[in-house]
Amino acid sequence: MSEILVLVEHVDGEVKKVTLELLTLARSLGTPAAVWAGPGYGEPAKARLAEYGAEKVYLADSAEIVDYVVGPKAELLATLVAEKSPAAVLIAATPEGKEIAGRLAIKTDSGVITDAVGLSEGFVADQSIFGGGVNVKSRVTKGTPIIAVRPNSTAPEAAPGAAAEEQVTVTLSDAAKAAKVVERVKQEKGARPELTEAAIVVSGGRGVGSAENFAIIEKLADSLGAAVGASRAATDAGWYPHQFQVGQTGKTVSPQLYIAAGISGAIQHRAGMQTAKTIVAINKDPEAPIFELADFGVVGDLFQVVPQLTEEIEKRK
Ligand SMILES: Cc1cc2nc3c(=O)[nH]c(=O)nc-3n(C[C@H](O)[C@H](O)[C@H](O)COP(=O)(O)OP(=O)(O)OC[C@H]3O[C@@H](n4cnc5c(N)ncnc54)[C@H](O)[C@@H]3O)c2cc1C
Repeated sequence: MSEILVLVEHVDGEVKKVTLELLTLARSLGTPAAVWAGPGYGEPAKARLAEYGAEKVYLADSAEIVDYVVGPKAELLATLVAEKSPAAVLIAATPEGKEIAGRLAIKTDSGVITDAVGLSEGFVADQSIFGGGVNVKSRVTKGTPIIAVRPNSTAPEAAPGAAAEEQVTVTLSDAAKAAKVVERVKQEKGARPELTEAAIVVSGGRGVGSAENFAIIEKLADSLGAAVGASRAATDAGWYPHQFQVGQTGKTVSPQLYIAAGISGAIQHRAGMQTAKTIVAINKDPEAPIFELADFGVVGDLFQVVPQLTEEIEKRK
């Protein structure tokens, strides 16, 4: 079977969940070959990639690759496309990933599809548009299919692979060095899990009423070891940072449990959370559209329900 290149997303040497999802997808259509760009590669990363079926790992672990903005990663992938003639290239549909995909498509004179939520035989990509209201199937008709897949659209499944390493050296062009990273500031990370990788997400919406009131959402989240999310109404109001927005123009989450408090369930919000395994809604309006989607619903005032729920969870710990 032909090789499918998967660009690895990693932080501090740790492989991100989206890469495991892409390896799972790649396995269903060919032989997955991970592409590692930048420093940080080590035994834990190799073991993780092998666990999820990477047969090969193309290693371009020089520091120079991450000294510049996206250009080098696109150039690295273009080199591999020319040398290895893969059947397709899969990239995470993050803002950076989509930019790399676009640049790679230009460099290889290929078609590109972004924000895919599924992939089937013949590299037919599913896209969910208009807030999940319309499903589109698309296929690249020119060159090597380059497909950026949204995080959390596939459940990662382990299956062993050889993870045979092959060093790759790229001589970066001046064009790839056109934008240099001049500073990196590590964001303070709290004890909560990352929103897109969390098994449980507790989100608050306009019903929460203020930035201060988000403390009750955080308390519930902490009692469950969950991440905190927010609707756009809440982030636009400045009650919670934009990076926690869930939905069409925010993050896509697919946790085991999603608790929506004071969120009406607009189509654009659903687009980012409707694949959650179990959805619990807390809303004082029994007609709120979120209840159409919810597995369990509580009609009530969140200022009463959420603290009671938190207390009950704490008691049972
Ligand atoms: C192009 C576009 C992109 C968008 N992208 C996104 C996106 O990514 N994410 C997103 O979330 N939205 C997005 N939106 C906005 C979306 O259309 C909605 O406006 C938004 O989701 C509404 O947020 P909300 O549910 O918090 O607020 P509302 O719709 O105002 O709902 C608030 C809910 O809280 C309930 N409530 C109020 N007080 C209480 C209380 N005390 N106890 C319990 N319940 C209470 C109310 O009954 C109501 O149902 C987008 C819109 C557009 C046009």
